[in-house]
Amino acid sequence: MGLWSAIKGVVRQVVRVVVEVVNRLTVGIFDQLFGFAGWPRKKLRLQVIILADASGPVVPTSDLQAPLDFITRVFDERFDVKVVPFGHTFVQAMKDPAPDGALDYECSGAAWYDEFGTVGDFFAKHLAGWNAIPVGVRFPVTVYVTRNVEGTQGCSLGPLTDYVVIDLEGVATPSLMAHEVLHACGIWHSRTRTNLAYHPSDRGEGAKWFQKNMLRASRHVQFW
Ligand SMILES: [Zn+2]
Repeated sequence: MGLWSAIKGVVRQVVRVVVEVVNRLTVGIFDQLFGFAGWPRKKLRLQVIILADASGPVVPTSDLQAPLDFITRVFDERFDVKVVPFGHTFVQAMKDPAPDGALDYECSGAAWYDEFGTVGDFFAKHLAGWNAIPVGVRFPVTVYVTRNVEGTQGCSLGPLTDYVVIDLEGVATPSLMAHEVLHACGIWHSRTRTNLAYHPSDRGEGAKWFQKNMLRASRHVQFW
């Protein structure tokens, strides 16, 4: 990895942590304490980007409908959060092939390492909402759809990044996208099978009161 890529990667994560903490202590404080009451309604902006390999986008746009229907309904019902597209539409398909490390993405410790190299640069470059100057204050979540996430269906570095990665199997599991977005909003795994934060793919769609607080106080969830 290049030194410059590594420096940029560190700066990106430090900025995220600062924004996250400040957000939870200021505009998010009410929800951090009382978010389970689910009032008033907030918004989460979402951008789905389908990566391409040499033969084009790795999945047709229409395959994202079930995961989008799921997250839209469940976030509304469980968190009183309206999921809206960041751009004109939820889904964008890329034309140019993505780097190999993004197409066959390694989760676990490797994801952290990748963040400081070519793959991190690639994801940072295409991220919704951060490349415009001045940077907006809506902090959308970008969902990258890739060919394969090694050993699992999806990956998130939690609040350290503004994106999650899901693969083709993940697209075929409608609850997976919503599950990864929970991680991006600072929620970790639950052992309760009926919970949306349950790791295995036969998870339910439930949410506990403290998970509502966490999600609604995240930087990704705002009143505007
Ligand atoms: Zn998970």
